[in-house]
Amino acid sequence: MWLLVSKIIRQSFIDGPGSRMVVFLQGCNLRCIYCHNPETRGLCSACGKCLTSCPAGALGRQELSIVWRAEMCRGCECCLGVCPESADPRAQWLPAGEIYRRFAADAAFLDGITLSGGEASRQSREWLPLAGWLHNDGKTLFVDSNGMMTAASRQEVLTAADGVLLDFKALDRRVHRALTGVDNLPVLEFMAAAAAADKLYELRTVIVPGYTDAPDSIAAMARHIACLPGRPFWRLIAFRRHGVRGDGTGLPEPGGERMEELAAVAAAVLGRGRIIVR
Ligand code: SF4
Ligand code: SF4
Ligand code: SF4
Repeated sequence: MWLLVSKIIRQSFIDGPGSRMVVFLQGCNLRCIYCHNPETRGLCSACGKCLTSCPAGALGRQELSIVWRAEMCRGCECCLGVCPESADPRAQWLPAGEIYRRFAADAAFLDGITLSGGEASRQSREWLPLAGWLHNDGKTLFVDSNGMMTAASRQEVLTAADGVLLDFKALDRRVHRALTGVDNLPVLEFMAAAAAADKLYELRTVIVPGYTDAPDSIAAMARHIACLPGRPFWRLIAFRRHGVRGDGTGLPEPGGERMEELAAVAAAVLGRGRIIVR
């Protein structure tokens, strides 16, 4: 099984419990206006537009594919802004076994792997073997998802993953549509299913002034979370313009005081210990 990987972080402490390797999978089914990793959303069509943008000559063509030479790459990211597909020419196809091999090399310092994205559930069939290998080692697999997935992927995620980090972008359907272009019903259904399966580890909400920073909305979301089985954490993430492209670049950023005010609203319902502000 091969996975299309945009990036691997060898160790993170904010992507699930403990110390984790994070594998960012390429491709997303949403187009959120505040996306700060827009280059992880699309799939390369090999159009070649990025080839001349690379000052290091790290990009080339081999037959019908684009080739990235890691050893020549300076990490300048000049290739990202020119891509009409919101793809990343540096994304690599890796066998699931190679990802496990990299994890195993650092396993003494790691509690497991978190699959992120893009949207990790889109490659659920391909990463399923990873779950078994990790479980054999006494390690865990977590999935960071936007909640929009097929019934088959939902089944695979809820069966194979030990926990889910889920975007809770908005409870209000109009706000969710404005941010993502789609209705939030599938997300709320997945949230309920993950909670019922005792796999909902953390919910994540990006605070965007004018969209998701109304105290009444935060209180309503907190009450929604309080009614779920289990005790998931809720992470409130301040919107930052860094990396954002298109309409989202004009959005305002919330200040620290506003974030603390909203955290207090959430904590009044859920308790301070379940609220994380970032
Ligand atoms: S779900 Fe995440 S990766 Fe996908 S478009 Fe939205 S913010 Fe970006
Ligand atoms: S980040 Fe992109 S443009 Fe920059 S050196 Fe690497 S491949 Fe070339
Ligand atoms: S990464 Fe984007 S610009 Fe580069 S070849 Fe692929 S689709 Fe074209």
